[in-house]
Amino acid sequence: MKYDVIIIGAGPGGIFSAYELVKGNSNLKVAVMEMGNPLEKRKCPIDGEKIKTCINCKHCSIMSGFGGAGAFSDGKYNITNDFGGTLCEYIGQETAIKLMQYVDDINMTHGGEGTKLYTTAGSNISKLCMQNKLKLLNASVRHLGTDKNYVVLQNLYAELKDKVDFHFLSPVKTIEKLENGYKVVTEKDTYECIKCIVSVGRSGSKWVEDVCRDLEIETQSNRVDIGVRVELPAQIFSHLTDSLYESKIVYRTEKFEDNVRTFCMNPYGRVVNENTNGIITVNGHSFEDPAQRTQNTNFALLVSKHFSEPFKDSNGYGESIARLSNMLGGGVIVQRFGDLVRGRRSNRKRIAESFCIPTLKAEPGDLSLVLPKRILDGIIEMIYALDRVAPGTANDDTLLYGVEVKFYNMEVKVDEHLETKHKGLYMIGDGSGVTHSLSHASASGVFVARDILSQIN
Ligand SMILES: Cc1cc2nc3c(=O)[nH]c(=O)nc-3n(C[C@H](O)[C@H](O)[C@H](O)COP(=O)(O)OP(=O)(O)OC[C@H]3O[C@@H](n4cnc5c(N)ncnc54)[C@H](O)[C@@H]3O)c2cc1C
Repeated sequence: MKYDVIIIGAGPGGIFSAYELVKGNSNLKVAVMEMGNPLEKRKCPIDGEKIKTCINCKHCSIMSGFGGAGAFSDGKYNITNDFGGTLCEYIGQETAIKLMQYVDDINMTHGGEGTKLYTTAGSNISKLCMQNKLKLLNASVRHLGTDKNYVVLQNLYAELKDKVDFHFLSPVKTIEKLENGYKVVTEKDTYECIKCIVSVGRSGSKWVEDVCRDLEIETQSNRVDIGVRVELPAQIFSHLTDSLYESKIVYRTEKFEDNVRTFCMNPYGRVVNENTNGIITVNGHSFEDPAQRTQNTNFALLVSKHFSEPFKDSNGYGESIARLSNMLGGGVIVQRFGDLVRGRRSNRKRIAESFCIPTLKAEPGDLSLVLPKRILDGIIEMIYALDRVAPGTANDDTLLYGVEVKFYNMEVKVDEHLETKHKGLYMIGDGSGVTHSLSHASASGVFVARDILSQIN
C-alpha cells in the first residue's frame, strides 16, 4: 500500500499533522499508524475493585491510542516559548507562538469554545513573586479540562476519519529507507510512503532510539525531572489560580543553587496515579465541569537533573528513584509536610486527621527515604518560599505525594524543518525530545505538514 505521507502516532503531533495535510491538499493520500486503540475503545482496566493495579496491557490505554498521552489529560494548552519544549529554537519564536495560537483556534472550533484563556500579562502576581525570590514564567493558558479535551478529540476524529486512513493496533516495527521514500513495516503489513512523520511521544521513546540507531541519526541524552506532587486546600492558591489558572513559578535554592519549579497545576483537581513502563508515579488533573471539582488544588514541584559523563542515563536515574518509592509504598507514597520536616513518616491516623483530604488513595510513608537529599532540600526550601506568596503552603497538613517523575526523550538531531538527515523523514512531538507539551507537540505537527505541503503543492 502506497501513501504520500505516513504519520506514525496519533497523539497531538500526529493528529495536527494529518489535519493540516488534508486541509492543505485534499488529494493527498495520508495514513496514520497507531499502536493503540481508537478513542472510544481506550479504557484502562483498573476499576479499583476487581483490578486494583496495573496489569501491563500490551498497549496502555492511558498513554496510547487516538489522542496520545494527552487524551485523558487536563487539556492545558500553554501558549508560550518559556516552557513546554524547545520548538522555538528550531522554527523561531514568532512562528512557534503563531502555530500554538492556530492550534488553539482549531480546538475552539472543535468543541473547546467557551473555555477560558488565562494569561500572566498584566498580572500583579509576577511582582509578588519577584519580591519573594520567585520567578513567574510568562504564558497564556487555555484550559480545556479533561472533559472538553475529550470532546475536541472526538470532533477532530469525526472530521478526519473519511479523509485519512487510520490504522489502529498497528505498532510500527521498522522504517526502512527506499530510493524515493520509506518502507514502514507494522506487525501486520508493509506500507510505502514518500514522506514519513514520526510522532510517537513518550511511549515510543525506546522505539525511536532503535530507529535512530538503525538509520544512523544522532541523538543526545535529555534531562529528567524529579519531585513530588503537592496537594492543599484550593483557597490557599485561589488568588493565583483564579486569575492565572496555572502559574509556572521557578525558585533558585539557596543551598545548592538548583532550580525548583511548579509544574502542572490543577485547581480544584485530583491527584492520580501514572504508569510509565510499569512504574507507578503521580500526576494530577482537573475538570472544566464545576460539578466534578474537588476542594483541593494540586501541582508538582520538580528539580531537573541532566547526566552526561560518565553516566548518561538521566531517565534511568529517575526510574530508579520511582522504583524505590514503589518498593516502599507498593505504589505512590503520601506524606504530610509537617511529618516530613519533623523527620517522621506519616501514618493513616495523621492523614485521616489532616485538614486536607487526599484525593488519591496512596500509602502513608516517608519521602525522605526515597528522594535524594539535594532534591528534597530544594523542595522544602521552595515550599517555604511559596508560603510567602500563598500563605498556608507550608502548613503541616499540606500533602506531598511521591514520586513525580517527568521523563524526556532523547533529543533527536533534526534541522530547522524538523527533518532528520534523511530527506522526507521528520521527527516531531515529544518523541523527538524537542517538545514536552500538548501545544508544542501540536504546533510541531502543523509545522511539518506545511513544510511538506510547500514541496508537494
Ligand atoms: C496524565 C498526563 C497529563 C498531561 N497533561 C498535560 C497538560 O495538561 N498539558 C500539556 O501541555 N501536556 C500534558 N501532558 C503531556 C502531553 O500529553 C504530551 O506532551 C503530548 O501528548 C505529546 O504529544 P505527542 O503527539 O508528541 O505524543 P503522544 O501524545 O505521546 O502520542 C504518541 C502516540 O504514538 C503512539 N506510538 C508510540 N509508538 C508507536 C509505534 N511504534 N507505532 C505506532 N504508534 C506508536 C502512541 O501509542 C501514542 O498514541 C500530559 C501527559 C500525561 C501522561
